[in-house]
Amino acid sequence: MIQDIAPHFLDNHFEPGKEPSPDSPVVCFNGKDVLLRYDEKTAREAALTPEERPVNFALAESHTPVGDLHFLPTYGELPEGTNVRFLFTYDGVDVYRAKLSVLDRAHNEPGIDYGDALVVANKAQNTRVMDGFLFDSIKDIRQRVILEKNQVFLLMTALQLNNWYIDNRYCGRCATPTVHSPRERALVCPECHRTIYPRILPAVIVAVTHYNAKEDKHKILLTKYSPKTGHAFPYYALVAGFTEIGETLEGCVQREVMEETGINIKNIRYYKSQPWAVVDDLLMGFYCEADSEELDEKGDPVIHLDENELRTGVWLTPDEMTLQPDAYSLTNEMMLLFKSENIHSPADLPLPLERKDIEALEREYYK
Ligand SMILES: [Zn+2]
Repeated sequence: MIQDIAPHFLDNHFEPGKEPSPDSPVVCFNGKDVLLRYDEKTAREAALTPEERPVNFALAESHTPVGDLHFLPTYGELPEGTNVRFLFTYDGVDVYRAKLSVLDRAHNEPGIDYGDALVVANKAQNTRVMDGFLFDSIKDIRQRVILEKNQVFLLMTALQLNNWYIDNRYCGRCATPTVHSPRERALVCPECHRTIYPRILPAVIVAVTHYNAKEDKHKILLTKYSPKTGHAFPYYALVAGFTEIGETLEGCVQREVMEETGINIKNIRYYKSQPWAVVDDLLMGFYCEADSEELDEKGDPVIHLDENELRTGVWLTPDEMTLQPDAYSLTNEMMLLFKSENIHSPADLPLPLERKDIEALEREYYK
């Protein structure tokens, strides 16, 4: 999964008042786009329209003293006066985030008020704001596999922190601009003294399994998002949803499966969790079994699909199912364990596999 980056280590311990050196890597966001170092050819190609641009953007080969993080600009490369703040430590290197107000003034589209937000220019293109650098979307970076998993995880964690800073520039209670706490990772309202800490949203992922006695086969319930949700993800996924206020995780698992597929479940067992920065989630994965009297002619529990949420809901055997294109998500790991027949039902948990065993499985299925 994306957070399994050992031997690399991301330490999110906050230290207020840390100052960057010229070599310090800096993460600069524009919405979900991040400023990356590109080679000259790519920079020229980026001047083309999105349709004309080649898909395989190349990252620059150049290396800064921070090795693994050479794809980020350093503090010394950013325009003088760029306002940066300490984010976290990666392999012992302090990483910062920037408020690109200097670039903002020079390159912002006229007539758009970005307020105090991080930058920027034309969001529809990878606008060139500094020689050798381009804004690129994190989603595209993941799909084009131009960075290692540990680097993508760093960017996603930085994005989540960045979003939290931006979303809390004003106190939600009295609308006063907030200030940074001098002691901890928190924003403070100088008017009503409210302290705002980073928020994480709990959500569940559910692998519903079923033993089909007629066919003598184990099956898993896989879904695809409806285009109505605005989710462009075209691959199979598991039932998932956010935990409501006043709800337990187990209650959420039961409710989400019932709402999305109309299926009763039993034997809910926790598997693992995963931070998922794109929507500020902490995902918690559960396996469970269908508990349905109503079977179709094949002997599978009848699915009553919530068509506002999903466009597909199917029972598939390990042989029939297909995995996601990369092994980043908890959803995919849970699907992989079913496909590789390490898990048939929640009764197979806790799993005797260690991280290295799962990585061996990933290599086998993603070679
Ligand atoms: Zn306030």
